[in-house]
Amino acid sequence: MTVPEPNHTRETVYVDGAWVPSTGAGTLPVVNPYTEQVIGTVPEGTPEDVDRAARAAARALPGWAATPLAERVKTCSVIAEGLKARAQEIALTASREMGAPWQLAVMVQAGLPVIDFASMEDVAGQVEWERRSGNSVLVRQPVGVVGAITPWNYPLHQIAAKVAPALVAGCPVVVKPSELVPGVAYLLAEIIDAAGLPPGVFNLVPGTGPVVGEAIVEHPAVDMVSFTGSTRAGRRVAELAARAPKRTSLELGGKSASVLLGDLTAEEFGNAVAGSLTGCLINSGQTCSATTRLLVPRARLAETEELLTLFTQFATIGDPMDPATQQGPLVSKVQQERVRAYIRDAIDDGARLVAGGPEQPETTPTGFFVRPTVLVAEAGTRIEQEEVFGPVLTVVPYDGGDDEALVIANGTPYGLSGAVWAGDLDRASAFARRMRTGQVAVNGGVFNPTAPFGGFGQSGYGRELGALGIEEFTALTSLQF
Ligand code: NAD
Repeated sequence: MTVPEPNHTRETVYVDGAWVPSTGAGTLPVVNPYTEQVIGTVPEGTPEDVDRAARAAARALPGWAATPLAERVKTCSVIAEGLKARAQEIALTASREMGAPWQLAVMVQAGLPVIDFASMEDVAGQVEWERRSGNSVLVRQPVGVVGAITPWNYPLHQIAAKVAPALVAGCPVVVKPSELVPGVAYLLAEIIDAAGLPPGVFNLVPGTGPVVGEAIVEHPAVDMVSFTGSTRAGRRVAELAARAPKRTSLELGGKSASVLLGDLTAEEFGNAVAGSLTGCLINSGQTCSATTRLLVPRARLAETEELLTLFTQFATIGDPMDPATQQGPLVSKVQQERVRAYIRDAIDDGARLVAGGPEQPETTPTGFFVRPTVLVAEAGTRIEQEEVFGPVLTVVPYDGGDDEALVIANGTPYGLSGAVWAGDLDRASAFARRMRTGQVAVNGGVFNPTAPFGGFGQSGYGRELGALGIEEFTALTSLQF
């Protein structure tokens, strides 16, 4: 491959249309989770950096809001082209900083953000920007300055899923990327800088959640916070925002169920188990919408275990840059330890280990790896209820019919995603409609990047992507005539 080694060391923040030094002197390390080596540093942003960014964004608001919609959409198309041109560099940066296997890095980590920006051309036209209601005309206005706080697992997609619709809605943004994987956000800022947006419309301040994240949430010039991350941090964001109060949109954790109904033939059952495992292990198990619970009729538990023992042997662990690798390392030592502790505690609690386990894989003594792990546990146990955020599938047997399966599927505090598989499509579809979750894959239906994405319960509120993702960043004004 001829992609130059990315630059993981940055010395500036992007504020008011310019690369400027942070007001602080601190730096944050960037670690390659495969080699465990520090490969760069970024500025540890400060509340003063946030203040400069938020005030620049507020100054930019009237002009950007008044820019014709077609021009704001065109800007997103230009950014999409910029992302496409630098896709290999983006993929390599994501792979180096968070261990994404190369194939996934190219297709998803670099590919999805292109769709996020490019799709604006289509979906902006689906927004009802104005409509009559009695003697009123309801007009959608930009909600104002948006603070965007994002995690590390799909580091550029999660930024793009906020920035593209916010720009189309007419909102300037202040972005805080994950402190663990900041590199791709810098590449986006370079692309946006080259696209020639007015100063202040896009701002990037790296740093930690408690300092930069909270400063964004609390800044009086920030009108809305769009947050993606853990339920714990999301709760804190909502509490701080409530003091103003200001609007929040929260994309949080999940414990999604893939439900196999009783009428599947042996072949269909095998495909469903394989699909569910893939849905759990994608991105080395670090996906908020991962199907981490596999619900099967108890009578088919032995068949399930046999299949999973076989399938997990094919989940190749190793160097993210090796094209054959399916499972890279987890993002950090902390994450690796957290996931291992979950596996150990589950076994102590009575879960049965079918594949994998908490030990370091023999083939990869270095790197924050966790073996693809399958546990069998009963509904209601901790491993069945809590988000692990690693390559850990919990098989949950159910007795009785679809109604019992539904109670278990809906029986966690989360509701982000899910899947259902049945021989009869109508039966699968009817089951899917009763799942209290933001999206459901019916008989293997694939992810739709322009359908609304978001949660029920502790998975958060608000929706991203598609036309609804744009509407999220608007507020209605009623003009009475
Ligand atoms: P995290 O909550 O630790 O961090 C997410 C972001 O929030 C980071 O930028 C972090 O610096 C910031 N943050 C942390 N504390 C903060 C605070 N007090 N105030 C403001 N900002 C703060 O999450 P993570 O470990 O980076 O990501 C994993 C989590 O994200 C998982 O729980 C996963 O399910 C969730 N996630 C959800 C979605 C979704 O769309 N629903 C997508 C991806 C990840």
